[in-house]
Amino acid sequence: MFLIVKELQPSIRLRKLEALLRRLPSHHRERRRVEDEYARRMAGYRGEQSVGYHLIPMLSKEFLVLYDLRMQKNSSFYQMDIQILTPAFFVILEVKNMSGTLCFDQPFSQLIRTINGKEEAFACPIVQVKRQANYLENWASVYRIPVHSYVVISNPATIIKSIPAYSDIVVKTVIHAAAVEEKITSLRTRYREPLMSPKELFKLSKKLKNLHVPDNPDLLSMFQIRRNELLTGVHCPSCSSIPMRKISGAWSCRKCGCLTKTAHLNTLDDYVLLLGTSITNRQVREFLQVSSTFSASKLLASLNLSHTGTYRNRAYLLPVLT
Ligand SMILES: [Zn+2]
Repeated sequence: MFLIVKELQPSIRLRKLEALLRRLPSHHRERRRVEDEYARRMAGYRGEQSVGYHLIPMLSKEFLVLYDLRMQKNSSFYQMDIQILTPAFFVILEVKNMSGTLCFDQPFSQLIRTINGKEEAFACPIVQVKRQANYLENWASVYRIPVHSYVVISNPATIIKSIPAYSDIVVKTVIHAAAVEEKITSLRTRYREPLMSPKELFKLSKKLKNLHVPDNPDLLSMFQIRRNELLTGVHCPSCSSIPMRKISGAWSCRKCGCLTKTAHLNTLDDYVLLLGTSITNRQVREFLQVSSTFSASKLLASLNLSHTGTYRNRAYLLPVLT
């Protein structure tokens, strides 16, 4: 039986941002915004990773974990960082990897972060996690399973504060990563009676996993970047330098000396992440900087892709990334 029902892995959005940074010229006007968004998303991913380590000692067949589940109801999305399902209770963890001092200001539904003397406001994660808990409660309503939700601060050096009138709710809801195990243990003591069989629980976890809707934005339109602004050429899988040169059947990196026969596959992944799954012979030549039609055809043939259209405007379908 799988204990981690949905694994933690870099999201498609994170992989798209990584590909865009590789292919956006260093002086590009949007580069800073893309870098900021990438840094924020990467910090979120690292935060979930570090909280994940604290869950490992608790894993058992009656303790199922789902990472990054994003579900849709009407036009609303419910993105939950970590879901823990047990036969007696469910837990949602909203992970915040933020440094500095965090002050929870409930009446205004704000989280105010102070770092290096600068204040910045964010949407309150307590409100967010309560909303997610209500949504999950609906799913578990037949079994009357209690759902608990916490905001987990993954950076141990972060200082947590609240305005005095709301310190109770903050103390109950906001915890450091190191306190996760203790919280779960106390819930185990509180809810001893299983309300579902392990089989029912596993079935429900699969059902939730199947409802996942990946966050898959079109980054070029989001940042208003034209496709002809992207750097082309095969990138080095070791140092990301562009372009690699083809020397007697292998791709060679001028910068780090890396020599590989498969670098074009990583570059085609970048193409899918940024431009889509349909590619023509001409587009292969442009994106990979391959000069001859014959070499591009040979490369496409080696991939065994399905295609549409007649010979001259044939479009090949690259595999969708999941
Ligand atoms: Zn290199």
